[in-house]
Amino acid sequence: MTLIKCKKCGTLVSDKAKRCVKCNNSLKFQDTEYKNNLLKLIEKVAIIILIICIIILLFTILFKKGDDTKPQNSNYIDGVEEI
Ligand SMILES: [Zn+2]
Repeated sequence: MTLIKCKKCGTLVSDKAKRCVKCNNSLKFQDTEYKNNLLKLIEKVAIIILIICIIILLFTILFKKGDDTKPQNSNYIDGVEEI
């Protein structure tokens, strides 16, 4: 049995204890909660990166289309002017 320090009040509590005897702060939950938060953060960052990639891809497609339509329009206008 080892003693771990409560992150909330600093009291030494048994590592087998689920909660701090002094402040009733959950001890075993802290690590799993931290890991879960970290996983959620990584998940969020991954989603954000994915969204940014999609936006960049959409922008490149839109700008390419914009470049294609501009000469087409000028050609069309030139054709009309010739007639
Ligand atoms: Zn405590």
